Amino acid sequence: MAGHMASTVVYDCIVVGGGIIGSGAAYQMAKEGHKTLLLEQFSLPHARGSSSGPSRIIRNAYAEDHHSAMVQEVQKTWEDIERETNTTLRRQTGMLVLNQRRNAESFVSTRQTLVKRQLPFEDLTTQQLTARYPLMSYEGHYDCLMDTEAGFLIANKCLQLLQELFKKYGGMLHDGEKVTRIEPGRIVTVHTSKGQYKTGALVLAAGPWASELLKPLGVHLPLKVWKVNVCYFKEKVHSSYVNYPIMVDEVGEGFVYCFPSQDYPGYMKFGYHLLWDEVDPDSRDKWTDKRQVDIDHLKSYVRKHYPGLESEPSIIEKCMYTCTPGEDIIIDTHPVHHNIAIGCGFSGKGFKMGPLIGKILGDLAMGKPPKYDIKPIRMNRFMDQKAKL
Ligand SMILES: Cc1cc2nc3c(=O)[nH]c(=O)nc-3n(C[C@H](O)[C@H](O)[C@H](O)COP(=O)(O)OP(=O)(O)OC[C@H]3O[C@@H](n4cnc5c(N)ncnc54)[C@H](O)[C@@H]3O)c2cc1C
Repeated sequence: MAGHMASTVVYDCIVVGGGIIGSGAAYQMAKEGHKTLLLEQFSLPHARGSSSGPSRIIRNAYAEDHHSAMVQEVQKTWEDIERETNTTLRRQTGMLVLNQRRNAESFVSTRQTLVKRQLPFEDLTTQQLTARYPLMSYEGHYDCLMDTEAGFLIANKCLQLLQELFKKYGGMLHDGEKVTRIEPGRIVTVHTSKGQYKTGALVLAAGPWASELLKPLGVHLPLKVWKVNVCYFKEKVHSSYVNYPIMVDEVGEGFVYCFPSQDYPGYMKFGYHLLWDEVDPDSRDKWTDKRQVDIDHLKSYVRKHYPGLESEPSIIEKCMYTCTPGEDIIIDTHPVHHNIAIGCGFSGKGFKMGPLIGKILGDLAMGKPPKYDIKPIRMNRFMDQKAKL
């Protein structure tokens, strides 16, 4: 859509950001019958933010209990969307959680969450692991469990469907329109590159650009944006890893994860969740000589543990994480202007929860108490930042 001037319409809700969180919020608000506008700075679809790509893990196995609880809740929403659109958005593959360190805190807490919530999982020895998956090679001791319900979301399709459903429920989607300034108030005025709009409730879901929007509103959060390289390694024999599970292995300061060869048949997807390459989201791919570190690490990981794959990646895709200290998410309202809800800092794990977080953000902005306890994920946990809020 183009050429929007100052409008006399007052929206019930405006959502900034057409990633999975903003699209989830917009979908939920429009579905409830609220007059909603979704603003996205780039033409859709785009691969400049954090929500692009063919797949994202959805799993129960989390060290943080509240994440596991949210996943239980959001599975029902994805199921409803699948039913409503007669589409398959999830594939169940199971997910192996590995850790070479015995009784590592993250592994123990993850196992405890699964036990506490009575979620299905299986403990495996390294011998059982390699007997079951002969094309994986892990020697010596590993703590290992299988989250049997885990799998992945077909991410591009999820995002596209949320936006289509939003429009089907009467929502207005303006892409290629950047929000440049926000004037808070009982009625908020949103200035963009093409015009200005008024709304009773505002949801900010700007992903890596969150700080740019929040600072002028007096909100200074300790967010950092990191570049991530996603590498696809080709199978030596086509489809040999197609029925393998997702795998997550804590390695050094981060963890390596991989997906079976389903996104792109014949290629397995690997990533190294290691925060080492901080970037400005507007110059994500600007060259620096550190840019190979995670790719080199993944190459040696694949050589060591996945003998059925070529050791050089054939395809490399880029993405960004927006992380908080402690890598937990932020969902809250603006400390002064309570009709502005803020969702950011999803720290590499927000995709699966998009429509649930969207519902919470929409409710918060509209002044409704959220159905979910957001205490652990509010901004005020960053105590040293509190004075600035
Ligand atoms: C490689 C990788 C792997 C991941 N794996 C998983 C996984 O397995 N499971 C999982 O659950 N999560 C995973 N994540 C995390 C998940 O993808 C992100 O947490 C999620 O996509 C964040 O969505 P978002 O909507 O907050 O951000 P984004 O998708 O970046 O959306 C923000 C949008 O706001 C727009 N915007 C910003 N500023 C403005 C403005 N001023 N005006 C208008 N529009 C604006 C941007 O253009 C962008 O489209 C992964 C992330 C990456 C990068």
